[in-house]
Amino acid sequence: MTKKRVLSGMQPSGLLHLGNLMGALDNWRKLQDQYECYYFIADWHALTTNYADTSMIGTYVHEMVLNWLAAGLDPEKSVLFKQSLVPEHAVLHVLLSMATPLPWLERVPTYKEKLEQVADKDLHTYGFLGYPVLQAADILIYKADFVPVGIDQLPHLELTREICRRFDQFYGNVFPEPQPLMTEYPKLPGTDGRKMSKSYNNCLYLSESPEELSKKVMQMVTDPARVRRQDPGNPDVCPLFALDKIFAPKEWCEHVNVECRRAGIGCVDDKKELLKHLLAFLKPLQERRKELAAHPKRVLEIIQEGSGRARVVAAQTLAEVNEAMKL
Ligand code: SF4
Repeated sequence: MTKKRVLSGMQPSGLLHLGNLMGALDNWRKLQDQYECYYFIADWHALTTNYADTSMIGTYVHEMVLNWLAAGLDPEKSVLFKQSLVPEHAVLHVLLSMATPLPWLERVPTYKEKLEQVADKDLHTYGFLGYPVLQAADILIYKADFVPVGIDQLPHLELTREICRRFDQFYGNVFPEPQPLMTEYPKLPGTDGRKMSKSYNNCLYLSESPEELSKKVMQMVTDPARVRRQDPGNPDVCPLFALDKIFAPKEWCEHVNVECRRAGIGCVDDKKELLKHLLAFLKPLQERRKELAAHPKRVLEIIQEGSGRARVVAAQTLAEVNEAMKL
């Protein structure tokens, strides 16, 4: 029986953090056994917001591959590739853009949101408005059956499905409609209590040393109402406890859940215990990462090989598209 195909990508716009690991990479790793997975480094997508300064993109791409491999993505099982090494994505993007109505793009919720929120960059560009069309091309060029998405990314996939239907309506059935592979991503709080995100500067990065991670965890925000050690706390509103629930054993969480509320335990004790489990959890990944980092040429080859495999499939789809469009 042939496996169904899954496609997903990640923008190399910074270093990877714990939220990326638990939110996406860990899920990608698990999907490898059940599906034929295509995972790509979305370097063109990174340009939609970072076009003015591309000086770090090479570093971020390399770091991303290191983390992917260290987290268990296996180039023998999955196709790991870089978008810019498969120019067929861009060709399909142009073709899809011809038939994509402008209002479809203008109504994408994140488009307006980002235009308003991102003050330090000029996002009034053709590339930024058109990035959902590029995203549609990324998915359709591999005729992906499934795209792993969280609930907040559903509108993006729906737009891809609309673009797909419109294309098929004009030119015949070339693309299957990709389906969402609904995934519950654990939301990891950052060190300031807000969602862990590069833009908030509150991340625990996978490449950080145990000393750096320890320093950050020891300074992490806890229940804001618990000012002194003798004040009772509330784990329900404590961002550190959210990390406890992911990384510390159940017994410890139950202990904290009782003792914190009657000031029987201090935040420093809890932070130390969390650190112990967090560092143990990250240790194998960090060791694999270190080994891989010593062989940069091998890392490069993995992506080149994967991109070559992706190109074969992409070129085949593009040939079908050209024929369907009578080009
Ligand atoms: S003891 Fe733990 S759960 Fe309670 S406030 Fe401190 S860090 Fe949060």
